[in-house]
Order: sequence, then structure tokens, then C-alpha cells
Amino acid sequence: MNSGRHHIGIGMTSKRTRDRLVQRLRDQGVRHERVLDTLRDLPRHIFVDEALASRAYDDTALPIGFGQTISQPYIVARMTEILLETGACDKVLEVGTGSGYQTAVLAKLMGDVYSVERIGALSNRARQRMRELKLYNVRLKHVDGTMGWPEFAPFDVIIVTAAPNSVPQELLAQLKVGGRLIIPVGPAGSQQLTLITHTEEGYEQKVFEAVSFVPLLPGSR
Ligand code: SAH
Repeated sequence: MNSGRHHIGIGMTSKRTRDRLVQRLRDQGVRHERVLDTLRDLPRHIFVDEALASRAYDDTALPIGFGQTISQPYIVARMTEILLETGACDKVLEVGTGSGYQTAVLAKLMGDVYSVERIGALSNRARQRMRELKLYNVRLKHVDGTMGWPEFAPFDVIIVTAAPNSVPQELLAQLKVGGRLIIPVGPAGSQQLTLITHTEEGYEQKVFEAVSFVPLLPGSR
């Protein structure tokens, strides 16, 4: 038997608890079966503080320290589904690693994942979780992600999990032709989930639903 903090009782990780989350995602319109399977199988409780573990399979954002939050499972599923349905996902940049939960979902379903985070302590914790989950196709860096990760550009996919007031131009410049940027755009209270596709002719924009993310902030700490 394993012991340790990640084995905290059957209640948290029971099949029923996880099936309930997946049913809720389905009810909200998530259709992609591999995305649903991934969210069912991934242990979200290891991405939050032990004190919050009992709420890890609720469909809500939860605090992860430093004023930041682990994203709501619904929005993680939705963004991932949109990306999988719109083209290649072999090389992926995530801006805003946070807990690493979205990172892990990407790593399960896509190719090589590069993820940047401006708060060093969060980046370090996420790195431990990637190791624990044996996700070796992830590379993390503690840096301000507004500038992307030019060393590894261009990307098939760029996913931003914090909201700027307008789309950072540097990120658009790091998309392959056919590549997509998915990003919440706007001030707190009126953000729109936005998909921008780099086509032969330029950039095409599509707006999805209203969302609520923490702000994309400049600089690192
Ligand atoms: N996907 C993450 C979401 C974390 S919240 C999860 O599910 O856990 C968004 C994260 O973006 C925060 O950790 C915040 O510190 C980070 N962030 C904000 N501005 C950033 C920037 N300019 N560069 C990199 N990360 C940033």
C-alpha cells in the first residue's frame, strides 16, 4: 500500500465522485470523449492544498496561494476541446502554469508542452507534480510569459490561463500558420474567451463565452 498525502481516503477519489464531475461537464456541453476521460482520470486533488482536497472534484476554481487559482474543470475542458478540434497540437505553449493542472491535461492529450509561470514558487510546485505524474513531455520555466517562449517558437497552440486587457502581439508572432491562440481577454468582470487562428492571410478571431480568470500581470516574482 502506498502512504502519504495523496492517498487521502476513498471519498475524494472514488469513481462516483469523478463520474459526477464528468457528468457535470457533459451537462455544460463538453463533448470531447478523450478530454472527458482525461479529466476523470487525472487526480485533481494533488494540485490543491490538502485542506481543499475534499473540494477538488467540484467544478469550481480553488485558491492555490499567492492570490491565484486552479482553473475550473469546465473551462480547462472547454479550452482543451476547442484546441483539439481546430488543428494540430504537437507543440504547445501555456502561459500561466499555476498549479499545473491545465498543463497536465495538455500533456496527456497533446505533444510537447512548454509552460511559463511568473511566480517561482508555483512553478516549482508544478514541476514536482509533473514528476509525480510521470509527465515527461512538459518543460516549465519561471518567467513573465507575456513575451511567450521565443526559444521554442513557433507553436501549434498557445493557451493563456490569465487574462490581459488586449491580446499580446508577441504571442501572435509565435504561432505557426494554422496555429491557434486561446486566451481570455478583457478586464475583470467582462472577459471573453477568444480563439485567434493564424491563417495564410493573417489572423482570424472567434469569440466564445464569457469567462472569469485572474489577470495576466507583467514581470516575475
Ligand atoms: N492553469 C492554471 C491557472 C492558474 S491561474 C491552473 O489551473 O492552475 C493563472 C496563472 O497565471 C497564475 O499562476 C499567475 O501567476 C500566472 N500569470 C499571470 N500573469 C503571468 C505572466 N505574465 N506570465 C506567466 N504567468 C502569469
